[in-house]
Amino acid sequence: MAKPIIGFVGLGIMGRPMTKNLINAGYPLVVYDIVPGATKEAVSLGAKEGKTAAEVASQSDVVITMLPDSPDVEEAALGPDGVMEGIRKGSIYVDMSTIAPAVALKTAEAGEKKGVKVLDAPVSGGDVGAQKGTLSIMVGGDQETFDKVKSIFDVMGKAILCGDNGAGQVVKACNQILVGIEIAGVAEALTLGAKAGVDPAKIVEVLSGGLARCGILENRGQRIVKGDFDPGFRCRLHYKDMRIAVDAGQTYEVPLMLTGLVHEMFKRMVVAGRGEYDHSGLITLVEDLADVQCRAFE
Ligand code: NAD
Repeated sequence: MAKPIIGFVGLGIMGRPMTKNLINAGYPLVVYDIVPGATKEAVSLGAKEGKTAAEVASQSDVVITMLPDSPDVEEAALGPDGVMEGIRKGSIYVDMSTIAPAVALKTAEAGEKKGVKVLDAPVSGGDVGAQKGTLSIMVGGDQETFDKVKSIFDVMGKAILCGDNGAGQVVKACNQILVGIEIAGVAEALTLGAKAGVDPAKIVEVLSGGLARCGILENRGQRIVKGDFDPGFRCRLHYKDMRIAVDAGQTYEVPLMLTGLVHEMFKRMVVAGRGEYDHSGLITLVEDLADVQCRAFE
């Protein structure tokens, strides 16, 4: 059976490797990004280029968006020249961006009016997971639609249907709470160790083998102690994700004390002009407060 045509909108840090893997798996792709150069690699690998999200959607069986924030998804999916303007009845729209659950519900409602099934399917695993096709994909929507696009998800990672529309974004907020608090914990632990005169590289090595082992130490530990904060996942995006989590805490009346604190720390990173740092760069805030740098000993 011929593979469905995939429309892909948003070819940034995540979208670029995801499109590459889909093309390599044999899917025909039509791509669009507001920054024209962003589609260069996909086009060189055989993807067609659309002039707008609507044009991409009009040529596709399944449309995927991978955009920064809720307003971007509202613009690209629901706005003029957006996905919903061009998408054909019976097609499927999958938003893989991390956005507010309320906006995921809005896109699902817009899809219903057009006879289009919508899934929210945010991911975890970062740029490395996107490159390797090992993302963890948290999906909200119905089983039948999930089953129809499962083989597409399989190219990008492992997908789990978490519940109805919006459930994927709720689970992603849970994920970002945990990762954000983990980063803050690693930052404080390494800063204390460094100021007390212990080589931070040794701390990363030994903690990675015990109960304190975690994804941040494993994926970012060696880079943190080199002061390498190239993104990766940008602080300004994690700030956005902590805001989504804080808002969800308001909606569902769950006091999220640590989430609130880490939200303010990421806010400070953005205000300090460090929004483009990798999220592990949050440690620079703690370093500033302690007047020390957590660099590996030579
Ligand atoms: P990015 O900023 O690198 O890429 C986003 C792309 O979307 C850019 O190329 C931008 O030009 C394009 N874009 C923005 N508005 C657009 C519009 N209206 N129409 C078309 N294109 C538009 O961001 P990213 O790191 O790839 O992240 C994308 C999403 O994935 C975010 O929601 C982020 O929170 C989430 N995410 C990222 C990571 C990561 O490690 N980078 C990990 C998990 C989840």
